[in-house]
Amino acid sequence: MVHSCCVVDCTARWGPDKKFFRIPSEKDSEKRKKWLRAIRRLNLDAPKKDWIPVASDRVCEAHFVHGVPNRDPQHPDYVPHIKMGYYGSQNLKAKEKAIQRYFESL
Ligand SMILES: [Zn+2]
Repeated sequence: MVHSCCVVDCTARWGPDKKFFRIPSEKDSEKRKKWLRAIRRLNLDAPKKDWIPVASDRVCEAHFVHGVPNRDPQHPDYVPHIKMGYYGSQNLKAKEKAIQRYFESL
């Protein structure tokens, strides 16, 4: 099965050198909501509707500062947040600052 990343404008494809992550399941609804909000592809084809991922949708490592999602809800990498298509590449500095703040607060 071939996967590609479900983030808007991300062209990453499944490969041995790439990590892909599943969208959190319904059981983890709070986290799932946050991920969906982060990923939102809605402005592309159905601006009024929420985007519903399919089971095979994955998010690639490019959207996490450390290349993997973090389990800590306070950590910026708890949800994918980098190179999210509709933001373009702006905000990266702010994200880095947020990460820094996180580690300083530990
Ligand atoms: Zn991606």
